[in-house]
Amino acid sequence: MPSELEVRCTVSNCYFWAQDNFCAADQILITSDQSSPQSPESLAADASLSQMAETPVQNREITCCHTFRAH
Ligand code: SF4
Repeated sequence: MPSELEVRCTVSNCYFWAQDNFCAADQILITSDQSSPQSPESLAADASLSQMAETPVQNREITCCHTFRAH
């Protein structure tokens, strides 16, 4: 059963991205990623998610979110 999870995301050129680093998609698919040593280890432990730098990408393959859709 789906949860009421709040997704925070910095991929600001995604169709589903919303201001202050929110994801507005109804559901997302995420797979493993080699990435992001700069990302916070825990969302709960990081109070500054809204201020994180945006990280736009060129295509889905270089995000860890397979729901990404470019504008
Ligand atoms: S990249 Fe994924 S998590 Fe980020 S806004 Fe787009 S769909 Fe949501």
